[in-house]
This record gives sequence, C-alpha cells and structure tokens, in this order.
Amino acid sequence: MSLPTPAVHLKSVAEVVERRSVGEPEFMQAVTEVLESLEPVLAEHPEFIEAGILDRLVEPERQIVFRVPWTDDSNRVQVNRGMRVQFNSALGPFKGGLRFHPSVNLSVIKFLGFEQIFKNALTSQRIGAGKGGSDFDPRGRSDAEVMRFCQSFMTELVHHIGDDVDIPAGDIGVGAREIGYLFGQYRRITKRYEAGVLTGKGVGWGGAEVRTEATGYGAVFFAEEMLVRGGEGIEGRRAVVSGSGNVATYAIEKIQQLGGKALTASDSSGYVIDEAGIDLDLLKQVKGVERGRISEYAARRPGARFVSEGSVWDVPAELAFPCATQNELGEHHARRLIENGVRAVAEGANMPTTPGAVELFQDAGVLFAPGKAANAGGVATSALEMSQNAARSRWDRDKSESRLHEIMRDVHESAYAASERYGRPGDYVLGANSAAFVTVAQAMLEQGVI
Ligand code: NDP
Repeated sequence: MSLPTPAVHLKSVAEVVERRSVGEPEFMQAVTEVLESLEPVLAEHPEFIEAGILDRLVEPERQIVFRVPWTDDSNRVQVNRGMRVQFNSALGPFKGGLRFHPSVNLSVIKFLGFEQIFKNALTSQRIGAGKGGSDFDPRGRSDAEVMRFCQSFMTELVHHIGDDVDIPAGDIGVGAREIGYLFGQYRRITKRYEAGVLTGKGVGWGGAEVRTEATGYGAVFFAEEMLVRGGEGIEGRRAVVSGSGNVATYAIEKIQQLGGKALTASDSSGYVIDEAGIDLDLLKQVKGVERGRISEYAARRPGARFVSEGSVWDVPAELAFPCATQNELGEHHARRLIENGVRAVAEGANMPTTPGAVELFQDAGVLFAPGKAANAGGVATSALEMSQNAARSRWDRDKSESRLHEIMRDVHESAYAASERYGRPGDYVLGANSAAFVTVAQAMLEQGVI
C-alpha cells in the first residue's frame, strides 16, 4: 500500500485529534500549530509517516486524574481535582511543571504537556514531557491551607513519579513554597531523600542556582539572539512585559541588566506602567513576598500608574514579552504593537499569543519567538538541577547562568537552522517545531511501536 502524502497524513491526524478532543480547545490549538509546520519535514522523512510517529505523538502515553480532599482553616472539607499527563518519554523521564489555578482542566494540562515535548527536545537535555496540576487556587489561602493541599496532592501523585520516572516542577501558582511542601510529603511517604524527584527546590536543600530566574532570563537571552542576528540589541530599548510572577519578574530583571527599560507588569486585575522603569525590589516585595495585587505597586511608587482596563500591549515599546498565561495577546493587541513599532516578541509564557496574532507579527516582519523555544531555559535548568542532584554536587551562580546562556544560544541556533532548512529563514515557529519534531521522531522510530 502506498503512503499518504504529507498533506493527507497531517489532515487525517488532525481529524483524529479533533474527534478525540471534544471540549479541549487549548489542546487542539497547540496541536494544530505544530501540525501546520510539519509538511516539509514529512516530505523529507517519509519513514515518520510509515512508522505512525505523529499518530502516536498526539496521544499521551498516560493520563492520571485524581481527587484531592483537604481541610480549610474553618475545618470545612474542600475537594479539588488533580491531574498529571505523562505525554512522551522517548527522550527521557517525563518532565514538566505543575499548575495550580482555577482555570486548570484536562485541555489546559494536555496543551502544556504537548508543548513540553518540543520544548524539552530543543534543550538537548535527556528529558521527556509531562505536565500536571489542579484547579486549586492558592490565592487568598493561608500557608497552612496551601501545605495541607500540597500534602494531599502528593499523597496520590507519589504513586506516579520518581527520579527516573516523572519529575514535576513549578508553573503558575506553584513556586518554592509549594515545591517545598510537595517534597516534604514525598520524602515522608517514601522514606527516601530522592532530591531529583522534583525541581525548583530551595537552593539550601537540592535546588539549582538560577533555576528561579531561568525562564525569564532565558526568554530575554533568546530575544537578544534574534535581535543580534539583525545587528540590533536590547540596550536602550523600551520593553513591555505582562505578568508579575516568576517568569515576568526575572524577564524584567534581565532586560534591565542588559540595558533595556521594562515599563510594565500586570496581573489578572490590571497593569502598571512606570516610565522610569519597573522598580524590581518593590515588585518582588509586593508580588513575591506579600502576594498582593499589582495596584499596590503603583500606590507605593511615585510616577507609576495602575490601569484596570486595556492591557500592557497598549503601551508603545520595541520589545514585548508576554509572561502571564495562554491566549493573552490577541489580534487587536498585535495590531496595536505593530502600529507602535514593535521589533521583537518573545513568549515567556506558554502559548500566550493567539494564532492570528502570530500571523500578523510574522507578516509585518516582527521577530517572533514561540514559547517552546524562548521559555525553554526553565526546564533546561531543571535538567541541570537533576544532574547536580544525581552527582550530589552544587554549581555556583556564574556557572549556572553561563550554562543557561549557552543552552539558549543553542536553542536559538537550532531553531534558526531548521527554519532555513525548511525554506523560511527566521520563522522560529517553523524552526522550533521542525527541529524538535525530528529529534523526538527519530528516537520514537528507533524504539519501535510502543
Ligand atoms: P506565576 O504564578 O508566578 O505568575 C503568573 C502571572 O500571570 C501572575 O502575574 C498572574 O496574575 C498572571 N496570570 C495567571 N493566570 C492569569 C489569567 N488567567 N489571566 C490573567 N493573568 C493571569 O507563574 P509563572 O510566572 O511561573 O508562569 C507564567 C507563564 O510562564 C505560564 O504560561 C507558564 O506556563 C509559563 N512558564 C513558566 C515556567 C516556570 O519556570 N515557572 C517555565 C516555562 C513556562 P495573578 O497573580 O492575578 O494570578
């Protein structure tokens, strides 16, 4: 029997995913974006069609959904849903974050797990892909409530993870505090100090230097690489950043270190604009230490303004870093940024730019870095944390940051090289998807039909 053409094959894979993914729009969006890139790759590699690589790649190896009961401070029983999607382990044990946010559902976790396959492959570290989380909302909860929730969550998750099996990390709503509580419960249940079972740990007990900063720093390093190719840079440039969590905070820090000016930060209540440049100490105090709302930043900072309507994308700037959440930058935002002369957009968050907005940027000649390449620094540094845990060693800050920088240069280089190879130099969506796909597909091919 003759093989279907790449176009016919891609269409049939998309149809199967659509049939199986009723009520999963985010997952469908992530899969569609990848499939749309792969025609030239499949034309070069018909063996991937023959081996049914894509048919297998779009289906998670395993999905675990579980009940998380816990007691709040008023002694009332609360029940959340927990989940872990173990998407692909062709390159190594499953690896990816946990998200605690009320918007979490299977569609969101599957989209994140699917993206993770490509991101992890781009880092050249030996890690497969997974993602998990819960619809638990840590905002407004006491430390004691967060601890009881994390302990209950881990009491089930413990059966499914391990340092050679699946290694979760943080994501939205899961930072150092949550990783600490999760690790404590893992250690208590298993009676083992398996430091490599979770990443993003405190640096005093197994965490890697620069892991906290890695995603935000990495996104700025990637943007710098794109700009430098065209003889430009970050220095002296105005930048708009969305979000005010882990990724946004350290993107702002690195923009400032490289001589750029980060003007904005946001949360789900609105944004602040600070023409003097964001005061990082104040931002870290308000959002990181006090876990307050972003309006409090403007209240304490002379000259800064809080805006509850509109978005950071209304503020004129040459660089844009969406670092909050999926689909936060739509077509009307992209038009506004282009009118205001944006030169480069690098996604710190996962899939923050809608497909229509990506197209507008690319058509306008704006450099665009998809999250699976631009925010790969976080998971890459997690893999370095795993290596240090396995060797019972600890790198210093300089070594950790220079290794991160090197990895981001390599991620940029391989995405750019693939964009050239498949006919659209500088199309980093095509480049990231195709370079990562070839790596994973080759491993799957060599490991047989599993
Ligand atoms: P945090 O929880 O530290 O911060 C999230 C930020 O985004 C907060 O400012 C939050 O505002 C805002 N936000 C979250 N959900 C929404 C929403 N539905 N609408 C509006 N604003 C929202 O998360 P991270 O910084 O870790 O993650 C941000 C993004 O980066 C996510 O897309 C994540 O998947 C991605 N990412 C993170 C990595 C990491 O290492 N942490 C690695 C790679 C990607 P509020 O306080 O109001 O909720």
